[in-house]
Amino acid sequence: MNLSLVLRHILAAPGAVSRATIASRMGTTRATVSRLVDELCNTGLVCDCSPSGDASRGRPGIPLAPQFGRVVSLGVEINISYLSACAVELTGEILAQETVRGDFAGSDPAVAMAQLVDLARRVMTAAMKSAKAANPVFVGSGLALPGLVSLETLALAPNLGWRDLSLDELLEPLSDLNPVLVANEADLAAFAVANPRPGAPDGPASFVYVSGEVGIGAGIIIDHHPLAGAHGWSGEIGHICVDPSGPICSCGATGCLEAYLGLRALARSAGLPAGSTPEEIVSAARDGSSEARSAIATGGAALGRALSAIVNTVDIPEIILGGNVAVLADELIPPARDELHARVLQSPWAEPELRISEVRADLAVIGAAHKVLQRLVDDPIAWTNGIP
Ligand SMILES: [Zn+2]
Repeated sequence: MNLSLVLRHILAAPGAVSRATIASRMGTTRATVSRLVDELCNTGLVCDCSPSGDASRGRPGIPLAPQFGRVVSLGVEINISYLSACAVELTGEILAQETVRGDFAGSDPAVAMAQLVDLARRVMTAAMKSAKAANPVFVGSGLALPGLVSLETLALAPNLGWRDLSLDELLEPLSDLNPVLVANEADLAAFAVANPRPGAPDGPASFVYVSGEVGIGAGIIIDHHPLAGAHGWSGEIGHICVDPSGPICSCGATGCLEAYLGLRALARSAGLPAGSTPEEIVSAARDGSSEARSAIATGGAALGRALSAIVNTVDIPEIILGGNVAVLADELIPPARDELHARVLQSPWAEPELRISEVRADLAVIGAAHKVLQRLVDDPIAWTNGIP
């Protein structure tokens, strides 16, 4: 536990903490911290930087930092229209990444996994090459999926058309890449927002991250902790009913948020072809298409209704829009905000803040890679004992 605490202090302020500052923050002796730091240095996780010459404290403190490239993890993702892989090391630098477009709706899981493994191996080869000087150790991979994932099963990924798949079987093709976790893609993207660097929970404390592709999902973080739910299935906001008399959703129910704001639903009501991108839907609206404008306005209002239900239930101050939803955000936010204002009981005192995440599609794979590294940060001894 102390080894983990020391490592967290170093990851929280790389190059800006010394043994003495960590000792004072932990309320322990410098000798104890030095012993722990030596242990971390011996495994190559941490290194001494050049002396800072901090004369104000009466003695120079040697700043500590994670060793670049020493440990590498891999995040991989299967989504409806792409496969993605991203290798990250302990300082948070991305060593290699690649995304391949495709149509995985109704795909054969074994075929999609085989393609993912090819991509993952390519990315890992590039990553290990770029970290070569640090004698890198690969610590494992994490898989992001757009569906309900429990410890043993992918229960349902409605837009992939996958259900009741044993994770052991699903992960078998990835076995040489040591898969240590599988989770919902929106939950992993939220983890990346909450932990912008491995082991450094510097992101907002409590928020809902809304992720949109063909499906709409969310990851909920409260006081820096993911709200997982009893089975780990929380955050399925795409299936909050915003109008029971609305269109049929991929889940079989009617009037779900996803039936308005999911990419295919949105393209259909905007009068555009099924494969339209969010950028194409936005530009149709900006070019004056009344169908596209009305589709986005209806989608934004539906989003606001669904989010109001969440804010009223769990009192979350911040909503971050990511993925495709972020591309549409300028048009979606005003109608969504109107609904939040009208429906959230706390609005007059604390209006929930809606903001757009940096538009990047790779947050889920980064979150998966960071979460694999988090296991090492939580229990460095288990890892150091396994070092060759
Ligand atoms: Zn639904």
